[in-house]
Amino acid sequence: MKILVLNCGSSSLKYQLVDMATETAMAKGLVERIGIEGSQLVHEKDGMDKVKIGAEIPNHTVAVQMAIDALTHAEHGVIADVKEIGAAGHRVVHGGENFADAALITDEVKAAIKECASLAPLHNPANLIGIEVCEKLLGVPQVAVFDTAFHQTMPEHSFLYGLPYELYDKYKVRRYGFHGTSHKYVSDRAAAILGKPIGELKLISCHLGNGASVCAIKYGKSVDTSMGLTPLEGLIMGTRTGDMDPAAVTYIMEKEGLSPTAMEDLMNKKSGVAGVSGLSSDFRDLEDGKANGHKGATLALQMYAYRVAKYIGAYTAAMNGVDAIIFTAGVGENGADTRKDVSEYLGYLGVAIDDEKNGKRGKELDVSTPDAKVRVLVIPTNEELIIARETIGLV
Ligand code: ADP
Repeated sequence: MKILVLNCGSSSLKYQLVDMATETAMAKGLVERIGIEGSQLVHEKDGMDKVKIGAEIPNHTVAVQMAIDALTHAEHGVIADVKEIGAAGHRVVHGGENFADAALITDEVKAAIKECASLAPLHNPANLIGIEVCEKLLGVPQVAVFDTAFHQTMPEHSFLYGLPYELYDKYKVRRYGFHGTSHKYVSDRAAAILGKPIGELKLISCHLGNGASVCAIKYGKSVDTSMGLTPLEGLIMGTRTGDMDPAAVTYIMEKEGLSPTAMEDLMNKKSGVAGVSGLSSDFRDLEDGKANGHKGATLALQMYAYRVAKYIGAYTAAMNGVDAIIFTAGVGENGADTRKDVSEYLGYLGVAIDDEKNGKRGKELDVSTPDAKVRVLVIPTNEELIIARETIGLV
């Protein structure tokens, strides 16, 4: 079966067509700036140069149609007819407390996704549009795979905030966590690499991309994670603050005369390593900056690694031990310097990195020294493959 995997953002759409016979991506692409001037589709087929198609893309309906057109195109397409697509799998950001697993799309599931929209106002409505557009254009079974689902195993003492309990009862204010699909995938891969059942392992997974989160995975289950009610909490990210004193929020709002929306914008889009460095949210730019003596970049990288290390320490305590630490996503997979900087805090745990192994790229690696007590693994994430697997499992 061929499965179309879709990840609809507020103004973007990522797609991938996965051939489940070989579990490989036949083609993939990205539609950017939906509803904004300068929108385009970038399509990639194995062995061919990227195809860029600039067009007016006013909404997600047009974007999904363009993706399907690219997949069925005579030259850069990979299927002759849309009927070859057997099912669609969607990344849905927030499943609230309703979903501990992926779900076959029904009217009830769509209503539940809508209900969670207030918790993820930028994402869930876009995810839902993607589902509804596919319903019309493809007419095949569809599955929703939730970013939050893997973390539904967190115990109450770890997911609750120190707020009056009635606010949880009334509004479901609690930690949900995100990147669950990625944390699950890399933890399963870690167990395979270590040659041990996941049910016997204590793992800490660091998903370090533009958004970033750490997850404590005890015996295969998420027991804590750094993102919270929304993806703003936890690590310092590309443009997000991560943890800070909540009183700083009201203080800055008062001092700067900011509305809640403007403050949210500041914390989500103007902060993080971009805000601290004043240079960029991209780690390649920051590393270049550091090499050239840029103070802001140097400080931002230092703060970033320090925060990741603190979370690893905290989650080691949460699980009373750790067998392996996993690095994944853009920075985790490629940022050898960041891995090294984080590991340097963790010598007391028995972490030791082999610089030569750590310098390698592009595949699953154990970068620890042979006698290290805690393994450090680099595992490229593959959220699309997990979504495709969950989809075929349910259809
Ligand atoms: P997302 O899916 O959250 O948008 P990714 O997982 O693709 O993000 O990660 C994107 C980030 O990865 C970029 O912002 C960049 O900082 C980082 N990155 C990519 N390549 C490298 C590299 N070679 N060295 C260091 N960081 C890198």
